[in-house]
Amino acid sequence: MFVDIAKIKIKAGDGGDGAVSFHREKYVAAGGPDGGDGGRGGNIIFQADDNLSTLADFRYKRKYVAQNGENGKAGRSTGKSAADLVIRVPRGTIIKDAETGRLIADISGNEPVIVAKGGNGGWGNSHFATPTRQIPRFSKPGLAGEEFEIQLELKLLADVGLVGFPNVGKSTLVSVVSEAKPTIANYHFTTLTPVLGVVRMGEESSFVIADIPGLIEGANEGLGLGHHFLRHIERCRLLVHIVDVSGSEGRNPIDDFNAINNELKKFNTDILNRPMIVVGNKCDLTTDEEIDKFKKYVEEMGYEFFPIMAAIKYGVDDLLKSIQEKLSKLPPIKKFEADYYTKEDLNSKDINIVKQDDIYIVEGEWLLNLLRTVNFDDYESLQYFQRVLISSGVIDKLRDFGVQEGDTVSIYNLEFDFVN
Ligand code: GDP
Ligand code: MG
Repeated sequence: MFVDIAKIKIKAGDGGDGAVSFHREKYVAAGGPDGGDGGRGGNIIFQADDNLSTLADFRYKRKYVAQNGENGKAGRSTGKSAADLVIRVPRGTIIKDAETGRLIADISGNEPVIVAKGGNGGWGNSHFATPTRQIPRFSKPGLAGEEFEIQLELKLLADVGLVGFPNVGKSTLVSVVSEAKPTIANYHFTTLTPVLGVVRMGEESSFVIADIPGLIEGANEGLGLGHHFLRHIERCRLLVHIVDVSGSEGRNPIDDFNAINNELKKFNTDILNRPMIVVGNKCDLTTDEEIDKFKKYVEEMGYEFFPIMAAIKYGVDDLLKSIQEKLSKLPPIKKFEADYYTKEDLNSKDINIVKQDDIYIVEGEWLLNLLRTVNFDDYESLQYFQRVLISSGVIDKLRDFGVQEGDTVSIYNLEFDFVN
């Protein structure tokens, strides 16, 4: 089964405690403090693994705990640091904080990424000897390792995303241009998992094409299978929209084309701005007249059109050449940037609330920095800001301060009505 979302708990190791110990030796009356430091707790690290293609493993194991550092020992002996715990995920996995939705990392590259930091070991008592305190009977405990719940989301890394109704010939096209062998059959939803195919263009050049299960109307509202897979086209640099130009299933190709575009737009308005090529498949089942009618329609909308018969590879070479040419001019596959604020930032930063002329004024230096990173015209960005206000406790503090529904709150000239 193809699993592309998972929620797991991770906990980095705690640091070991520092030791309290005093040097003991024959004939030496009172040796100095010699308690060693605790070792560091293990980090939780994520690493891309190209042998993995789904997040299925995470359905069975939901909690990942790195080992704790060893406690310090006598003789200034430092406790052993614990090994890091490396969690392997398919390339293209996005990691989010489950509570706030904050994006922590995009595991698309080769470098391992530390997601939860192990706690540092505590200092042994040997650190605490001073001229006036020669017998320190205390040490520091190790710090706790970071612990939180995360959401993993796989967003495939493909240059080209194929979209279209079920049964229009998407899988057939992928199978004739690449080594990938997706299931092909004359019924809907034969493709239950996205399939990536590598298309080789001569010696040097190649691109990755993704066969994405068919979209149907209502897909963005969760009807049918397609909705679940829309996220996989988010990174594609180019969309190839395949339409059954023969209307062999009793639908009209123009209606099909518009219906799929509507679904894409409803899912994410940005996706329709992505460069798109239109392909009319099953040309063998219709007349040149019908093909021309559709071609004219999409060309007037500004799209390039290619008539093909995927099953016999007719017209496919021209299509591939055009895809390659377009890709050469497009920016690389999108990587998601981690959100700026870390959990620690949110926990450690305080705020101050004062009431002036019926307006509740909130101040705090970190809020000022946060505001600088928010784009108030962008819905996602605004939502992030709201989540931060909630997760950092600002909303709770306002409520405790006595702010009521509808009261005006001002954060550095940003004014809004308090909604409980
Ligand atoms: P998908 O659901 O979009 O992936 O569609 P498939 O690739 O599974 O194809 C659906 C059906 O259309 C299969 O029976 C294919 O053999 C058939 N098909 C694909 N390309 C052509 C073509 O060019 N002409 C005709 N007549 N049938 C085709
Ligand atoms: Mg298919």
